[in-house]
Amino acid sequence: MKKSTARAFWILTLAALWAAGCATTGVNKGDINLISVDQEIAMGQDFSREIAKTYPMLDDVEVTSYFQRLGERIARSSDWPDLQFHFQVVNTADVNAFAIPGGWVYVHRGLIERADNVSEVACVMAHEIGHVVARHGTETLTKQYGIAIVTQLVLGQNPKLWQKVVADLFTTAGILAYSRKQELEADDLGVRYAYRAGYDPNGMATFFEKLLQLQEREPTLLEVWFSTHPPTSQRIERVRAQIASLQLHPGLVKDDPEFLRVRDRIRAMPAVKTLRESQAKPESQR
Ligand code: ZN
Repeated sequence: MKKSTARAFWILTLAALWAAGCATTGVNKGDINLISVDQEIAMGQDFSREIAKTYPMLDDVEVTSYFQRLGERIARSSDWPDLQFHFQVVNTADVNAFAIPGGWVYVHRGLIERADNVSEVACVMAHEIGHVVARHGTETLTKQYGIAIVTQLVLGQNPKLWQKVVADLFTTAGILAYSRKQELEADDLGVRYAYRAGYDPNGMATFFEKLLQLQEREPTLLEVWFSTHPPTSQRIERVRAQIASLQLHPGLVKDDPEFLRVRDRIRAMPAVKTLRESQAKPESQR
């Protein structure tokens, strides 16, 4: 570590230890995170900018404003209700969703097209909001890249590093390679947040069941999902048990006519490939 980087590292560490005393959410009490909340939010800006340069975003006001409203409704029922969340649709055929530190949540177009009702998308978004609230992204970032690199990212000393973090995103070396414990925590939080926001939490279970069926029939749509999420059969059982402990009432939203309209609008757009298909080189160039 260079002298200036070492000094910055200690400043960061001390600042974060101090900040840890005033936990934001209570969800990650007891977990050590050397990155302060303000640093995490600033990093999210840099990170999301690099993602927008790398992956195709669906640029349609009606679609993006719908998912921003849906996401905000869930986020306000989370344990970090005052964080400014940003929701975007990635214009690829993958059935996938992901989140990065600081409140950025991405839903791939293929997931929306395959959802039967709004509760399924709401539950997946709530799971991703759970990753953000529990600050899994920065925990994994530190684990995967080490404190020296993270310090440079926080201080904005080497903007090119974000290119590497984004290139690694859907690999086992990337920040979405969460531990099983983190995934299960995001499931628990997701069910809770979707329910609190007034969505039928059964959408989580029916969506996971759909993934298992899709894995048999159209595995290419799930390559990205399964590279970062563990198998779903035990998760379905856990989620079902959690739902059974909740008071389900008829007011919970499963269907929403506006969702169906937006989904039809997306389905009518020109077809797109999956991320892997669009990255693959034609035979002649291999
Ligand atoms: Zn997850």
